[in-house]
Amino acid sequence: MAVERTLSIIKPDAVQKNAIGAILGRFEKAGLRIAAAKMLHLSRDDAGGFYAVHQARSFYGELCDFMSSGPVLVTVLEGEGAIAKNRDLMGATNPKDAAAGTIRADFADSIDANAVHGSDSAETAAWEISYFFGQREIFAH
Ligand code: GDP
Ligand code: MG
Repeated sequence: MAVERTLSIIKPDAVQKNAIGAILGRFEKAGLRIAAAKMLHLSRDDAGGFYAVHQARSFYGELCDFMSSGPVLVTVLEGEGAIAKNRDLMGATNPKDAAAGTIRADFADSIDANAVHGSDSAETAAWEISYFFGQREIFAH
């Protein structure tokens, strides 16, 4: 399997819960490396641009409000099959459906406040990484 990069966001609810370290630990234990990291408080426009793909959905407004409600930790994760591996670690979007032991099962409260974001394809990952990071801010291992 190829070494990939994916974008992860630890969302405002998980930052508020003091769970940054616990979540980063899960990535590292699964063999993913943190190749870039920054803490940001997104503006509503930052959040709206990032989630533009969901613009037409009924939950878009709530999603933008939530994502700009407090600081987040944005990282680039790197490793073999990083995109799918991260999605597996995250669990289902709705924590009620998330498998036991996944990040969302353990840290998420609701479908809105669901602890983490992760890119869903190679194409999305490339776009999402470039939304937050320049090439000189990403460190290959
Ligand atoms: P993800 O890739 O698992 O994060 O899920 P999506 O890309 O489908 O949706 C992006 C984010 O929008 C999710 O993580 C949720 O926080 C939120 N979201 C998705 N579906 C719903 C919904 O039906 N209702 C609400 N309120 N939020 C949703
Ligand atoms: Mg998604």
